Order: sequence, then C-alpha cells, then structure tokens
Amino acid sequence: MSINLGIPIPKTAPVLAERRPTRKVPVGKLFVGGDAPISVQSMTTTPTSNINATLQQIAELTAAGCDIVRVAVPSQDDADALPAIAAKSQIPVVADIHFQPRYVFDAIEAGCAGVRVNPGNIKAFDDKIADIAKAATDHGTGLRIGVNAGSLDKRLRALYETDPAGALVQSALGEASLFEEVGFHDFAISVKHHDPVIMVQAYRRLSQACDYPLHLGVTEAGPSFQGTIKSSVAFGALLAEGIGDTIRVSLSAPPVEEVRVGIKILESLNLRPRQFEIVSCPSCGRAQVDVYKLANDVTEGLKDMTVPIRVAVMGCVVNGPGEAREADLGVASGNGRGQIFVRGEVIKTVPEDEIVPTLIAEANRLAEELGEATGTPEVVVR
Ligand code: SF4
Repeated sequence: MSINLGIPIPKTAPVLAERRPTRKVPVGKLFVGGDAPISVQSMTTTPTSNINATLQQIAELTAAGCDIVRVAVPSQDDADALPAIAAKSQIPVVADIHFQPRYVFDAIEAGCAGVRVNPGNIKAFDDKIADIAKAATDHGTGLRIGVNAGSLDKRLRALYETDPAGALVQSALGEASLFEEVGFHDFAISVKHHDPVIMVQAYRRLSQACDYPLHLGVTEAGPSFQGTIKSSVAFGALLAEGIGDTIRVSLSAPPVEEVRVGIKILESLNLRPRQFEIVSCPSCGRAQVDVYKLANDVTEGLKDMTVPIRVAVMGCVVNGPGEAREADLGVASGNGRGQIFVRGEVIKTVPEDEIVPTLIAEANRLAEELGEATGTPEVVVR
C-alpha cells in the first residue's frame, strides 16, 4: 500500500473474486446484499432493558466502526426498551428474538431496522409468518433467518447426524419458503456453526441454492485468539469466493474486539479500504531492538489513525531498509539507533528511545499532509 499524492489513483483495489449477486435488503439506513458494502456487525452484551448502558455500548461499537448492532430481547422489559434504543442509536439496531413471536411485532413497531428470528426456536412463528411479513413490509424492516446448529429444528436432527451442513441449509430454506409463500423476500440468512469446515460447507450450499444476502458467522468461536483465527479462516474462505454480504465475528471478548477483527478481515481482502496498517518483522536472532515492544507501542500510538498509511517496523538492517522503503513510513533498527524512512528516503537517524515518538510524529505529519493534498485520501494496493 502506498499513499498517492499526485499520481492518478485506481478506484478499486484487486479482490480475489467478484461478489456473488444477491438481493438487496434494507436494514434501516443501510442495505445488506446487492451492491451494498459488506457490513460488520456485533452484538451488545448489556441487558437490553438497561437503555443507558446499551446505548453507551452501541456508541462504543459505532466509534469502533460497527455498521449494524444486534440486541438480545429475551423479556418484555427488553422489548419495551427497543423504541428508545432504536431512536437514539446512530447505527441500525437489529432485535434478536427467540421463542416469543410477540416480541417480533414489538421490535418492528419499535422502529428496529431489522429482526433476527431463529426457526429452530420459534415453531409458533410459522403460523404468524403472514402477519410478520406484513408488519415488516409496512415498516420497511429487514429480517434475518438465523439458523444455529445448537438450536436446530428437532425434525432435522436425524439429518444433522449425517449431514450437518445440509440440515442447516434445509432449516434456513424451509423457513425462507414460508416467507416466500406470502410474497416477502426482504431477509438475509445465516447458517452458523462452531466448526469452520461445516460452516463453510453450509454457506457454499446455501449460496448455490438462493440469492438472499448471507450473514456470515462462526458461532461460539471461542475467546479472542481462537475465535479470531476460526472466524478469519472461515470468512476468508467464503469471501475469497465472493460469498458473504455481512459478517459478525463472535468472540468471548468485548464486542468492540469483534468489530476490530471483522474490519481487519475485510481490509485484508480489499473488501473495504485499508486504514492504518503496521508491517512489523517477527524478530529473530539478528534483532538489535525489542521489535515486539516497538511494534506494540507504534500500534498503540497510532490506533486512532484514520488515514490509510502503512508503517514498517523492522528489527535490523537485513530486510529492514527494503521493507521500510516500501511503506509510507518506517524504521530499520541497528546498533541502538533507528533509521527513519519516509516514502523511501531516510529522513533521520534517531536513538532507540526516540524511535516510537518520531514514528508517531511523522505519521501524524504525513496524515495531515495527505489530508491537505487529496482531501479524501485513498489507498493504492500493489
Ligand atoms: S528484519 Fe532483521 S530482525 Fe527482523 S526478522 Fe528480519 S532479519 Fe530478523
């Protein structure tokens, strides 16, 4: 990646596959599917009935770049909180509803942008499909048919034993057909599983079988480390085939972390413009500086950087100058000092303890210069 300060900039960076064509479904002020950008979702962890705490967490998620937020609605108190939350949230709010059909109507009337329903948990919904479809149509509400392996319809248990991906797909398509029968098509579908292999198989089959937008998720993916890897692998496999219209990384970690991971997955595949990126070496026996600390300190110091710049942090002079030159800004360390590169030129050499503040100052200077030079900076990916 490099900053372009005068040369014509390609409008699009290369991607691994054309996006699979899907219907475009409204979710409040956004859309999911069609030509809408792939959105990043997360879910609040506060009791939804605690309006202030939930809105505070939604504000944090919004600041982190979350596009769509889901809130759980397990009780009438939670349903009663939805009008205030939907009205005050800066991003579309999706109500997550299991078991209780009446909360679906509450959520639609509350002004929620979307409602997630789980066919495995909502037998009672099936005879209310026409009413739900009418209410959603009247309010412009998008739905999500969200199938989970953990709550699969009992009638599909036997199939699940031999063909888990097939059972997930069958559950989703069965519910979809009920909405289709009443002429309603404004829904996305998810078929989540904790095993990335089964999850990928299920989404591949679903994408062959319908043109509804797909909400990707590896459910119960685990704590941050494991969950990030499982989600990245599974989402990467599907997105690299053009499958996926919105993503939710599920981590046993604060939801802001889910958003950060989701955004990075999309940026890594050029499915959204890359922002600040650090290129740092893994360190080795040649390192003449504490690379881990240096990389972490620079990342922390530039975590709020919104301009797309690439900063290289290299532990020695073997690969250091080459990598540092390819970045917008970089350091190659050696003998207790750091050579600071800006756009391929060494601009100064500083003592080790001045490397981090110098990189941060230069990054901010570059960001300011870039803003003035281009107005809206764009990324060129080589
Ligand atoms: S840049 Fe130097 S210290 Fe870092 S991994 Fe490469 S050889 Fe090792």
